[in-house]
Amino acid sequence: MDKLIKPNFYYQNIYSINYQRLKDNNIHYLLLDIDNTIGDDKEKTPCKKAIDLISSLKKDFTIILFTNTYPARAKRYGKLLGIPYYAFSVKPLRMNYKKFLKDYKVNTDNVAAIGDQLYTDVLGANKMAITSILVDKISNNESLFTKLLRVRENNNIKKYNLIERGKYDD
Ligand SMILES: [Mg+2]
Repeated sequence: MDKLIKPNFYYQNIYSINYQRLKDNNIHYLLLDIDNTIGDDKEKTPCKKAIDLISSLKKDFTIILFTNTYPARAKRYGKLLGIPYYAFSVKPLRMNYKKFLKDYKVNTDNVAAIGDQLYTDVLGANKMAITSILVDKISNNESLFTKLLRVRENNNIKKYNLIERGKYDD
């Protein structure tokens, strides 16, 4: 399973992702994590910078929030960003990825998933053969459960040489 946590791409944050490259690779749908990817756990609403980014990406991509967070938070982010959401998506389980693919009648080849965690965002996407994109977490504001997963992440990043922190894709 640990090979399945290697991301296809690794960037510092959602602002430094090479979206043109995704577009060139026929990616038309982006599944976007919320917590510590768009905003940290304490940010009740997306920041202006995130709103502007999503707005500019809409001409090239269909963007969907795909988050394990609770529905009220996902709904608030979705509303302010003007995009749909799947809350309680139980990443890395396949269930809601399948629901999304069915809802949008889309092929996995045309989808990329963006998030800050190997054991939810990257593992879930890789299991579905969806392009996986890892970004660094925004802050240390996160649940105890996530903090524990980070220990496992960091151990396996070293053990399996998955990424080099700070060495980002172009
Ligand atoms: Mg996250």
